[in-house]
Amino acid sequence: MDRIGVVGAGTMGTGVSQLFAEGGHQVVLVDIDRHALDRSRTAIVEDLRLAPLVRPHDVPADPEAVLERITFSTEPKDLAEADFVVENIVERWDAKRELYRELDRICRPEALFGVNTSAIPITRVASVTGRAGQVVGTHFMNPAHLKPTVEVIRAHHTTDATLERTAELLRGVRRKHIVVADSPGFVTNRVAMLTLNEAIFLLHENVASVTEIDRLFKECFGHPMGPLATADLIGLDTVLLSLDVLYENFNDPKYRPCPLLRRMVDAGLHGRKTGQGFHSYEVPGGPAPTDSAATAATRPTDA
Ligand code: NAD
Repeated sequence: MDRIGVVGAGTMGTGVSQLFAEGGHQVVLVDIDRHALDRSRTAIVEDLRLAPLVRPHDVPADPEAVLERITFSTEPKDLAEADFVVENIVERWDAKRELYRELDRICRPEALFGVNTSAIPITRVASVTGRAGQVVGTHFMNPAHLKPTVEVIRAHHTTDATLERTAELLRGVRRKHIVVADSPGFVTNRVAMLTLNEAIFLLHENVASVTEIDRLFKECFGHPMGPLATADLIGLDTVLLSLDVLYENFNDPKYRPCPLLRRMVDAGLHGRKTGQGFHSYEVPGGPAPTDSAATAATRPTDA
């Protein structure tokens, strides 16, 4: 059975850890921030508690055992025995580059790396490791333990064997996948980030209110969530960083982030995880702290 390493205990790392632990895997979840690990544990406990109500047809047989299979750690060296590492740290190239160099040193030579980024090209990530053939994009949707399908990205050097093992792993946790070629934002986020940004521009220009924009998508298009609620779910900081990555990679002004989005991120309104974005939320375990300075430091020139 594959031992799973998960790096980053934020929105995505929490769901990914729960998915694999529910699927019977031993999981080591690593974050540099002890409080993030505490919040992650609280979120999983709360989700498991509500599971009989929220997903009665998919309740884990033994919720306590799910939690016991996850080791929460601040030590990257605890990933040394992992067979497959899913990385979910902040969407900043400089942070990912340093982490992958470290993972390459720490992890077994046979271990595969699944990159859960919103937009950074997987080939670029693979290039800083000595195992480019074993690096694959595993773009989980949010919340990762509930969404049925994963966007899998074949980078320039990803081998067939890596893709097959990734497929096997995902099938084992009852997830479907769709393989696409490597391109910034892949298929999903190249489209979705533009849509979210444009919805924020509509609000910025007072064309419609938050409620009206979200209702139009839900009631007219039948979408389960409106674009502003979706941006809150993803995290407004992550949406901004993803647009920055798309903007830089394509050199195309169509990806310029809306000034309102930047202002909200600077103000610490990051969506669900902080309790306030376009909508308000209750956060189990308390709101995540914001680090606007770190986000600001990565800004390209304003478009
Ligand atoms: P997040 O801000 O909620 O969490 C990021 C976590 O990474 C934080 O807890 C932080 O402490 C930790 N971290 C930062 N540097 C680290 C390091 N060097 N080592 C270990 N931990 C570190 O972010 P998120 O929304 O979970 O996004 C994580 C990744 O997943 C990003 O690349 C994002 O683009 C991608 N992604 C996000 C979504 C989404 O809906 N939020 C969906 C798919 C993919």
